[in-house]
Amino acid sequence: MLDQYPAICYFFSLLPGIEKRDAYSSSRNKAIGMKITILPVEGLPLIHAGDDLPALISERSILENGDIVTIASSVYSKSKGYTRRLSDVTPTERAQRIAKMTKEDPRFLQSILDASKDVILEYPFILSEVGGGHIGVRAGVDQSNIEDDMVILLPPDPMKAAGEVREALKHITGNEIGVIITDTCGRAFRRGQTGNAIGWSGMPAIRDFRGDKDLFGHVLKITEEAVVDEIAGIANFVMGESDNGVPAVVVKGCGLWTGHDDLYFHAHEDFIRKALAGEIHPKTE
Ligand code: GDP
Ligand code: MN
Ligand code: MN
Repeated sequence: MLDQYPAICYFFSLLPGIEKRDAYSSSRNKAIGMKITILPVEGLPLIHAGDDLPALISERSILENGDIVTIASSVYSKSKGYTRRLSDVTPTERAQRIAKMTKEDPRFLQSILDASKDVILEYPFILSEVGGGHIGVRAGVDQSNIEDDMVILLPPDPMKAAGEVREALKHITGNEIGVIITDTCGRAFRRGQTGNAIGWSGMPAIRDFRGDKDLFGHVLKITEEAVVDEIAGIANFVMGESDNGVPAVVVKGCGLWTGHDDLYFHAHEDFIRKALAGEIHPKTE
């Protein structure tokens, strides 16, 4: 019975006059009877351009309606050929200038600049906005888990990437499977990297608690929970970073939540970004 809970709630959500929110979204109702299972997809080979990742994943896992497949952006990019050979990269003057400060390979820096839509910091490391709105250290360009002299770029349109994988999994399995493309990211204020969602399909990024009441009846005005990042976080923990060889993880039992996809601050409302650009001085003296 409990296994069918998400399906029942989804059914209720479709009835006229009953919103999903009422059927299955408050933190209280959702937690009761919840059992989340997190399964590494084992035995995937080294991935190369042209490999059919959805097929390789579905051959190695049992994918049921409502499951979420998380995929490391590194393997998605390798499967689509979003990689570069450093010996083919000619660094510009800007890359050479940054290299003097960061002591990194100017060709690596150039591949980062080429992948960036907007450079926020040049040093001590490049921090930039990339396709889709994600802001990442070194534009998410990786030199690990690929051959020498090669770098892995982030997918240029990670939302489209997640949508395509979801469609492919639906085609193969006949089931509605959510997809999250993850990357391991550093964060402000705290040491240690965590998994972030850079593309997702089949679920809202954010679970919106605004309008819900707390235990004392106060109406929540601010709380929006970035659920896709939380799922990416636990998936990233299971993937590991080095030679685990687990670039995909299946998460079962999250159910449904309601919210929206507006995960990234718009530039005008992002005051840390404005402060880094010296545009605002958010202190009284
Ligand atoms: P990122 O977080 O997207 O940058 O990806 P990582 O480089 O940290 O890799 C995440 C996981 O996928 C780790 O367990 C890696 O060992 C694994 N991995 C990376 N590339 C491959 C590959 O081509 N094949 C397999 N089987 N595992 C890979
Ligand atoms: Mn990465
Ligand atoms: Mn990683």
